[in-house]
Amino acid sequence: IAQTEEVELTSESVNRDRERVGPDCFELLTVLGKGAYGKVFQVRKVQGAQTGRIFAMKVLKKAKIVCNAKDTAHTRAEREILETVRHPFIVDLLYAFQTGGKLYLILECLSGGELFMQLEKEGIFMEDTACFYLGEITLALGHLHSNGIIYRDLKPENIMLNHQGHIKLTDFGLCKESIHDGSVTHTFCGTIEYMAPEILTRSGHNRAVDWWSLGALMYDMMTGSPPFTAENRKKTIDKILKCKLSLPPYLTIDARDLVKKLLKKNPAQRLGSSKADCADIQKHAFFKHVIWDDLLHRRVEPPYKPQLQSDEDVSQFDTRFTRQTPVDSPDDTSLSHSAELAFAGFTYVAPSVLESLKEGFSFEPRARNVRRHNSSPRTPISPFKNKTRCFSSTFCRNVPKSRKVNKRQTEMRPVESSYVSRMRSTGT
Ligand code: ATP
Ligand code: MG
Repeated sequence: IAQTEEVELTSESVNRDRERVGPDCFELLTVLGKGAYGKVFQVRKVQGAQTGRIFAMKVLKKAKIVCNAKDTAHTRAEREILETVRHPFIVDLLYAFQTGGKLYLILECLSGGELFMQLEKEGIFMEDTACFYLGEITLALGHLHSNGIIYRDLKPENIMLNHQGHIKLTDFGLCKESIHDGSVTHTFCGTIEYMAPEILTRSGHNRAVDWWSLGALMYDMMTGSPPFTAENRKKTIDKILKCKLSLPPYLTIDARDLVKKLLKKNPAQRLGSSKADCADIQKHAFFKHVIWDDLLHRRVEPPYKPQLQSDEDVSQFDTRFTRQTPVDSPDDTSLSHSAELAFAGFTYVAPSVLESLKEGFSFEPRARNVRRHNSSPRTPISPFKNKTRCFSSTFCRNVPKSRKVNKRQTEMRPVESSYVSRMRSTGT
């Protein structure tokens, strides 16, 4: 068993200054999103240092960072470990506080929204666009790996853009505990389409899982959907474990080669699995035009710059979260007691936030949209000639300016272990 170092995120381990940070330092402005573990709000700091600044606030029960000490040569103080997760392409954690059994993390607000909002607009990315994003993500993952941290959860909704359009991973391989149900294991909650086979079979995993997810993401960016999809979770898992990868003909040789090498089901054969880790990926011909030092220092112009009016602009977020019912609704008074309690202590809670609570905005994972297998905007007829295509029904012949969406699988319960063990016994 590998030796690990753990840091639990608390006000003591996170906050750098002597300033006492608590709910009364923040105004709750808007709901930005929901993940499997908690909700994220836009807040404004109204006291102390950085008064007036906009942040994102994530509410969880617990969170910790687990690093493999073997990968980092020496054990470090908690503070030091927290410092090491800082990176240009990883969200910055500014403050934390606990109250009422909940942990509040104050993060930099990523006003560019989710990268896949952009992808949904575009349908697919051209290869040079994909190359930019994948390059920045590769650097972030390589950085975490060099600190003994596996991200594990690389998927579209965890990849965000800052106001300039650069990549930011939403967290840093945190082990989280959900505030809505602490007892349930969340291993397989949420989107599974980007998970490596060895995670799904629970057969033990290492940092190579992140390179698989990078491959799945790359495939999604360049074709319009993840490599293995089906109408339910079981079938999706089955495909991830067993299905042969099929690539549309319009990919360049370099893209095709990289996707194939990242989506090797056997982690030992996967690109990036060697000691060199991200260096092997950076050397791949798909990235031949990238000047890595420029990329790392954000000297490369992002392909899309979010159109933002102000610091508080939430136009890049899903309106299901941000556009809540108007302020003076007559039944404002019917706010449930628990909803009122939820944010007791905060200086100000925007009516829209309260409204969302009243509407039963529980801490349940959100239902995601999934993009359908579209025909490529560059090829009006489906590029997929293989038999494994899983969506035959609605397929857009008209070049989609925006991707057609349907519901991403919304079932959030963990996969039945009997199923998983069956698959394990049949092998992959
Ligand atoms: P999961 O583990 O399933 O990814 P989670 O509970 O850890 O879920 P996050 O992914 O961190 O939640 O956040 C949920 C959503 O909130 C994101 O998909 C994103 O839309 C939004 N969000 C998260 N962090 C920020 C941030 N710093 N700034 C703006 N929006 C954010
Ligand atoms: Mg998320």
